[in-house]
Amino acid sequence: MSIYAVVGLTLGVAVLLGAVYLAARAGARAAKGDGWLCDRCKYNDARYCSRPDRPNATECPDYKELGA
Ligand code: SF4
Repeated sequence: MSIYAVVGLTLGVAVLLGAVYLAARAGARAAKGDGWLCDRCKYNDARYCSRPDRPNATECPDYKELGA
């Protein structure tokens, strides 16, 4: 096996492991409910919310859970 094949294989494995790690982290964050509050808020629409934080608020006194 040539040095190029070894380097290529090593890089491929590193990229694959990185992708698996990022996907697992994103899944864990979604499961915990992390992320933007607005994504889970019933007022997340310009017609109902004019707060400058929208759509990326992490804290909000007007937050109302979707479906509530
Ligand atoms: S009320 Fe607050 S949480 Fe809801 S969309 Fe507006 S800024 Fe986001």
